[in-house]
Amino acid sequence: MKYMEKRKQIISIGQEIYRQRLVAGTWGNVSCRLAASNYILITPSGMPYDSLQPQDLVVLDADGTIVEGNRKPSSESPLHVHIYHERPEVGAIVHVHSPWASAYAVARQPIPMILEESAQVLGASVPVASYAHAGSKELAYSACAALGKEHKAVLLANHGLVGLGQDLEEALLVCVIAEKTAMIGAIARTLGTVNSLSAEDINYLQQSFQHYGQPQEEH
Ligand SMILES: [Zn+2]
Repeated sequence: MKYMEKRKQIISIGQEIYRQRLVAGTWGNVSCRLAASNYILITPSGMPYDSLQPQDLVVLDADGTIVEGNRKPSSESPLHVHIYHERPEVGAIVHVHSPWASAYAVARQPIPMILEESAQVLGASVPVASYAHAGSKELAYSACAALGKEHKAVLLANHGLVGLGQDLEEALLVCVIAEKTAMIGAIARTLGTVNSLSAEDINYLQQSFQHYGQPQEEH
């Protein structure tokens, strides 16, 4: 079977969003771009993450037509397909219904840049896409309009959160950090003022994060 590594990686990220309670049941979805093609690999519709097998994933072309797989693809496929079309640098997308981000999505307020790790990983506040029904093309358009060319995450009004990354690990990290930022933002508001980081500080933190950790080993 082709793309076995990517299939296993998507299943493992799906199990991780379930384990971290970013989704309940079979909600949410995970996809990645397949290298050297315009194809997209995506989770199937309505199957428990724990029972997913590599052959359950669906390969779509750049227009969202099924190329390979016997399962029905995720109902949010139009959203994934449109983001890949609009953002060529994006290699993976994770969509979750995590509670604190969903609270901001219901309030229809952006998640502010209030933590250093939010600045490092997200780089900008998380905007809210105007409301459209789940699975609709309108939702795909409104999400891309809110994402623009820069944002790494977007809130879907009254629905949930979408995280983008160069790879699956980054897309998951974007969701985890956006969810944590939403939680801290909501709690901080009950304590008093929510102090956002300045654009200058966000820029500095982003730059320095690129050199975080151990230097790359030379080969
Ligand atoms: Zn959803």
